[in-house]
Amino acid sequence: MPVVTALVAAISGVYGLVIGSFLNVVIWRVPRHESLVTPRSHCPACGTQLANRDNIPVLSWVLLRGRCRSCGTAISVRYPFVELLTSVLFAAVGARFAHSWALPAYLVLAGALVALSAIDLEHYILPNRILYPTDGAVLVLLAVASGAEHDWGAFARAVIAGAVAFAIFFTIHLVSPRGMGFGDVRLSFLLGLALGWLGWGEVAGGLFAGFLYGAVVGVVLIAVKVRGRKQQIPFGPFLAAGAMTFVLFGEPLVDWYRHFGR
Ligand SMILES: [Zn+2]
Repeated sequence: MPVVTALVAAISGVYGLVIGSFLNVVIWRVPRHESLVTPRSHCPACGTQLANRDNIPVLSWVLLRGRCRSCGTAISVRYPFVELLTSVLFAAVGARFAHSWALPAYLVLAGALVALSAIDLEHYILPNRILYPTDGAVLVLLAVASGAEHDWGAFARAVIAGAVAFAIFFTIHLVSPRGMGFGDVRLSFLLGLALGWLGWGEVAGGLFAGFLYGAVVGVVLIAVKVRGRKQQIPFGPFLAAGAMTFVLFGEPLVDWYRHFGR
């Protein structure tokens, strides 16, 4: 069994490098309303199309020392970072779900959350063009997993958790529209869905962790005066990180809470 787990984790990690490379295209083009298919990847500064040898995840950036081969303009460290992050997350999801039919659903979730977080950090939006297809894909993949594992209770719980999360976030949005944008409300359905398939403990823990991360980082940024009190801090990345914490480590964390937390 550990051999299978390690193998699934390794394959998922390599797959994550390739998907991470695609996510870089998504992160650049979706907020700019550009096509994901054409044209081929090019340098944003000089427009030169990338040759295949310059399009290898992480490695090309390192070999080119972070500069375009044609014009020498610096290429953001975000590119290899997104590829590495996606790879690490995919490997972790692979290890966690090596023996579950739900593996594809959580790989899709992890990839989408990387793209959404990067876009939210830069543009303060969570595009529907990414959210809606991800909602659909995760819903279908979790339905397939529920059927294969004969656990339709998990699927029902997932859908209810998505609706409950949406209702809670929508209420917060009504009370404080500046504090919680409607993009975060839409994202909460996806997170509730994914956490709900695992259990109610994961739903509560994952959403709470998102608020906790956001609050801690927000307080620190204001304290060191990187951000003013009135300045906007994107919430999506924190919600995503909270959810992924409980997707990956929910079982031990929820068990720990049941034993020692009260
Ligand atoms: Zn260039």
